[in-house]
Amino acid sequence: MKNFGYSINKDRQIDLDKSDQRIALFVKQHEPSINICISCGTCTATCSAGNYTNLNLRKLILSVKRGDIIETKAEISKCMFCGKCLLACPRGVNTRNVILKINQAIEKFSL
Ligand code: SF4
Ligand code: SF4
Repeated sequence: MKNFGYSINKDRQIDLDKSDQRIALFVKQHEPSINICISCGTCTATCSAGNYTNLNLRKLILSVKRGDIIETKAEISKCMFCGKCLLACPRGVNTRNVILKINQAIEKFSL
C-alpha cells in the first residue's frame, strides 16, 4: 500500500447495535456514582499507575459507557487499585468501587 505519511484511526463512532452494555449496566446498578462523572480527567492526572503506564481512568469510564469491552479490559489491567483517584475526584465518584465493579462484571460475564 502506498505510504501517504499518515494512518487512519479506528472509527470511534458508537454503534448502538454493536455496543455491549453489560458492564455499564452492572456498574450503574451497583455503583450509581459513575453516572455523575463529567470526564474532567482529574483522576487521570493523579493516577499512581499513570506514572508507569498509560492508564487513563477517564478513558476507561468512557469505554465502559461506550460498551467497548476490548478497550475496557486493556485499560483496567493497568490499575493498581490504590484508590488515589477516589480522593481526587471533584464529583465524588466512588472510582475505587467503580473499578471493582468493572472487574466483577468482566468476571461475571466471562468477558
Ligand atoms: S475525576 Fe471524577 S468526574 Fe473527573 S473524570 Fe475522573 S471520575 Fe470522572
Ligand atoms: S485506583 Fe487505579 S485508576 Fe485509581 S489512582 Fe489508583 S491506579 Fe489509578
